[in-house]
Amino acid sequence: MTLTSTPGRTDAAEAAALRAEVRAFLADASASGVFVPRCDSWITGHSPSFSRTLGERGWIGLNWPSRYGGRDRPEMERYVITEELLAAGAPVAAHWFAQRQTGPLLIRHGTEEQRVRFLPAIARGECYFAICMSEPNAGSDLAAVRTSAEKVDGGWRVNGRKVWTSHAHVSHFGIVLCRTSPLGERRHEGLSQLIVDLHAAGVSIRPIRLLNGEGHFSEVVLDDVFVPDDMVVGSVGNGWSQVLSELAFERSGPERFLSTMPLILAFIDAAGADPDAETAETIGRIGAELWTLRRMSIDISRALGRGEAPNTRAALVKELGTRFEQWSIDAIRRLSGDEPDPESTDRVALLLAQAIAAAPTFTLRGGTSEILRGIVARDLVSS
Ligand SMILES: Cc1cc2nc3c(=O)[nH]c(=O)nc-3n(C[C@H](O)[C@H](O)[C@H](O)COP(=O)(O)OP(=O)(O)OC[C@H]3O[C@@H](n4cnc5c(N)ncnc54)[C@H](O)[C@@H]3O)c2cc1C
Repeated sequence: MTLTSTPGRTDAAEAAALRAEVRAFLADASASGVFVPRCDSWITGHSPSFSRTLGERGWIGLNWPSRYGGRDRPEMERYVITEELLAAGAPVAAHWFAQRQTGPLLIRHGTEEQRVRFLPAIARGECYFAICMSEPNAGSDLAAVRTSAEKVDGGWRVNGRKVWTSHAHVSHFGIVLCRTSPLGERRHEGLSQLIVDLHAAGVSIRPIRLLNGEGHFSEVVLDDVFVPDDMVVGSVGNGWSQVLSELAFERSGPERFLSTMPLILAFIDAAGADPDAETAETIGRIGAELWTLRRMSIDISRALGRGEAPNTRAALVKELGTRFEQWSIDAIRRLSGDEPDPESTDRVALLLAQAIAAAPTFTLRGGTSEILRGIVARDLVSS
């Protein structure tokens, strides 16, 4: 099953009208204090009430089929909304992973029962999922996961430990990658994905704090957790190929180059109509880089909507996009003359401080740059 009923190019006028509507809504919400714009808001801005408001407007999963709570709209409209939310620094983290990954995963591989149960609740902005892939010794080397699920009467008994799980402590469910048969010679076989109720008996969640005191990811310990048979996603043993297609969604979206957009916009604002030559050159470079990244990302988004798996191209967008994000912070810091300050009332200084604190994670989360370059290199060699 593909993601959208009308994949491909959308009517530009409709997309432009939607963009104007979303932008006006966000300007209003920001001006009236519903949210304070911040960098990296797709991971730092967790607001169930804001997610529910977006759900009421039909702006979550609007490219999904209407029988699953979507609006049957073209993929490009979902993309437009995503861009505007990120550029505005709106608090979208609560529903982010469910919309970006879990929805498409269930549409492709879920049972009808799972789709009907979860997708409309995700689209309403009421049901949040965490992505439980990484483990203490299985990050880049994801096939090394040790979390195991043993077959028992009516389901599976799950034991293991996940780390760096974004928003697990405030999510309802986790998609847990685990071994359903012992590790053999073929490491990618015997893996499966289970939907785990994060409030079930045996689940304990410990938030992990960042150096700046913020905490948006957790350690998730699974101790004899019972998961019923109907919570297996796709087929038992097919987890690896399902995860690979999920990673293309995770790596190619505009959040891989727009995390610092609120800072960039504040910097351009502060530069005024007649910036000095170096500032003007930097703004030009930012625009050129963003334009290229956006074209690549939109192409992938369309391919995903058609049910393809553009994994190498997605790795490329993530590697280039996150490198751009980190470069943009350095460039603005050098030119603005502002001291980064998380308490500042000056927008550039405040957003700079947020962006600097988040920057080291850009090239780690979703796959490190070294791993992404390896994926691209392998594909170039084999093609
Ligand atoms: C903010 C944030 C949010 C996250 N959210 C989630 C989440 O929600 N769910 C989830 O499952 N995970 C999440 N992660 C985990 C993330 O996916 C992993 O951190 C990442 O995949 C790297 O794994 P690792 O930390 O185990 O590092 P390692 O794999 O131990 O890597 C350490 C270093 O060695 C390098 N390296 C490793 N192998 C190779 C190789 N073969 N060739 C060259 N270099 C190599 C890496 O590039 C890296 O620099 C999150 C991480 C961050 C920072």
